[in-house]
Amino acid sequence: MRRLTLVFLLVLLMVTAGCRPKTTRYQAEFLGLFDTVTTIIGYAESKEEFTALARQVQEQLAKYHRLFDIYHNYEGVNNLKTINDHAGVAPVKVDREIIALLLFAKAQYYATGGAVNIALGPVLKIWHDYRTQGILDPHAAEVPPRHLLVEAARYTTLEGLIIDEAAATVYLPDARMRLDVGAVAKGFAVERVARQLEAEGVSSLLLSVGGNIRAIGGKPDGKGVAPWKIGIKNPDPESPVPQLCNVLIRGEAVVSSGVYERYYTVDGTRYHHIIDPHTLMPADYFTSVTVISRDSGLADALSTALFILPLETGLELVEGLDGVEALWVTDSGEVISSAGFSAYLEEQSW
Ligand code: AMP
Ligand code: MG
Repeated sequence: MRRLTLVFLLVLLMVTAGCRPKTTRYQAEFLGLFDTVTTIIGYAESKEEFTALARQVQEQLAKYHRLFDIYHNYEGVNNLKTINDHAGVAPVKVDREIIALLLFAKAQYYATGGAVNIALGPVLKIWHDYRTQGILDPHAAEVPPRHLLVEAARYTTLEGLIIDEAAATVYLPDARMRLDVGAVAKGFAVERVARQLEAEGVSSLLLSVGGNIRAIGGKPDGKGVAPWKIGIKNPDPESPVPQLCNVLIRGEAVVSSGVYERYYTVDGTRYHHIIDPHTLMPADYFTSVTVISRDSGLADALSTALFILPLETGLELVEGLDGVEALWVTDSGEVISSAGFSAYLEEQSW
């Protein structure tokens, strides 16, 4: 009885003193998903506990990776590549998560005035092929001929995409159409996985898929919960400072689109991977755009869109959205942010 009382007292003391079981910071990294590095950071009482959670995250992300892949087939899976391969042939029955991604992407197309267009595939494929070739053999690197791009652009109308929600089928009615979900898929997948984890009771974790970051809650700091500190990359490769600033987040997503991610060089000029649907050329107002929002799918779609849109249009778009902030770095190195961005800044980092 005395022992029981003692234990009770001890537990009571721990509770009143606000003590929590001691947790340690763990980090897991793996390659192979979404063509980039995935990093998971969390606090757990044991390595085993963290590893089990990290595996679960990896498996869930892998499911989305297979579904949203436009380059590979997977046994027993109808994915984005299956849809592209059946363009002009037949509708493809797909997982509901593909339908959800495509509906989301369609909504973002309209919300951004067409800046982000997942039906831009035929044009993006040309850039992808010329980039791949240019990286393999830099001396022979070339910019895609204009007439090829213009011809491909004829088959990029998103309105043409036929989504049958009831039947869960997707159809590209012209064989020359092609979906490319590179601008939205990572953020969308990360958001779906994060929400699933939150629903299962996970209250603190940081997910990063190739810099597409989503926090679940904050991080334990002994006394309570502290925000996660996220460094925003400096897009200037010549600068001795690797980061522009740090932002502090609790539960938000931070996503950047930048010239540094994928590019190749032709005669000393860099050609990166974000293509303006009007010019069919790499967008050239900015070197990076970062978006903070509670929804990582939205942050991903918007970071690509804002990278393409003129500053005034982008600012107006962001200021009209609740809970969305953005930071632009212009081609001349000027840094501009939306009105509420500074609330996320770690003061001494600026
Ligand atoms: P992100 O890094 O999220 O800005 O996405 C860039 C990727 O999106 C590229 O590698 C392309 O696959 C794709 N992309 C490029 N330009 C566009 C565009 N205007 N609309 C939709 N997707 C695009
Ligand atoms: Mg994006």
